[in-house]
Amino acid sequence: MSLDKNAGALPPPETVTVSTKRVCCDGGGTATGHPRVWMDMGEDMFVDCKYCDRRFILDPNAPEAH
Ligand SMILES: [Zn+2]
Repeated sequence: MSLDKNAGALPPPETVTVSTKRVCCDGGGTATGHPRVWMDMGEDMFVDCKYCDRRFILDPNAPEAH
């Protein structure tokens, strides 16, 4: 597991720090917007939105991070 999968060739995806492992994304209402979807990080500390490539990262200080 690496947080640097796009290192080098592409600019890093937009990242959003969240306090829960279950997150919602709708693309932010911009040109990259998409229908609202819910995602769960499961055993990971982050999840990527498969629609807009935003990366949601669990706040290390959040209760669910421990
Ligand atoms: Zn999204």
